[in-house]
Amino acid sequence: MPTEIDLAAATARLAGVARQTPVLRSRLLDETLGAEIHLKAEHLQHTGAFKFRGAFNAIAALDSDIRARGIVTYSSGNHAQAVARAAQIFRVPATVVMPNDAPSSKRQATESYGATIVTYDRFRERREDIAESILSEQHFTLIPPFDHPDVIAGQSTCARELFETSGPLDQLIVSVGGGGLISGSALAAHEVNPRCRIVGVEPESGNDVQLSLQQGRIVEIDVPDTIADGQQTTSPGKHTFAVMQQHVDEIVTVTDDQILDGVDYLFRFQKQVAEPSGACALAAILANKINVAGSRVGVIISGGNISPERFFELMEPRWKK
Ligand SMILES: *Cc1c(COP(=O)(O)O)cnc(C)c1O
Repeated sequence: MPTEIDLAAATARLAGVARQTPVLRSRLLDETLGAEIHLKAEHLQHTGAFKFRGAFNAIAALDSDIRARGIVTYSSGNHAQAVARAAQIFRVPATVVMPNDAPSSKRQATESYGATIVTYDRFRERREDIAESILSEQHFTLIPPFDHPDVIAGQSTCARELFETSGPLDQLIVSVGGGGLISGSALAAHEVNPRCRIVGVEPESGNDVQLSLQQGRIVEIDVPDTIADGQQTTSPGKHTFAVMQQHVDEIVTVTDDQILDGVDYLFRFQKQVAEPSGACALAAILANKINVAGSRVGVIISGGNISPERFFELMEPRWKK
């Protein structure tokens, strides 16, 4: 588990590197919910999601000679872009292993940060095997998307900034995939505010963390069918599970339709573009899945990477109604 020293080191490494993203307030939202809502706008972070924090911190923590050999990762989403950008800042090579049918927008974004893309056939090859051969032949270091103490420590800086701006909070609501963001958030929150309730939000079809915490063991599910592509994980990690067991009070779930209510709300009333996973935490409050009345609540908008075409495709059926 990351220690207070690891969290402090991450805060120091990211100072002046990560964007200090704004905390948005809304009179309408507060009145509607009878609560004080503080939205941490992490979709405005470098590369469009909080993942930059964890990736940069984990790469910065490596010995410089190890780092110089290169970095590899096998996520195709926001973590890939974050690793590519962080490696670019350190001027070290990065390789991202991606399925050959990954959306071209994701490929292009990752390539724009100078990473090398190695593709594989999802139906015939295993990404772990490809990554493994890169690791052993080229001596690259693997930076995983969530299950790593330095990744978790990097993610903690987001909630730390939120608390610095908002002051004490009664509850913190965080979208959950493999649990890196909520683990870091909970550790940072409980350092300053041990009684803050930490609530995670998963898509209904992807409730691997909810099941794992209920059963007290890591539960593995099939790849979830959800529009929230930042949360399509099949199980929490060893590190994140240990932190969540100790620090997370509750996991609630939302349907894809409720997630789209969140995306729609942010666009309509806050003039913010969030991707489905980015709006997941707010969606849980709007759908009354969490009792927030009378409390001071922090909500992390975790990412905003969505193409105009995809945004339109998801929203048009609702706008037509
Ligand atoms: C990765 C991601 C998540 C989930 O984060 P974990 O650390 O895997 O729990 C949520 N939202 C967005 C936008 C993401 O990219």
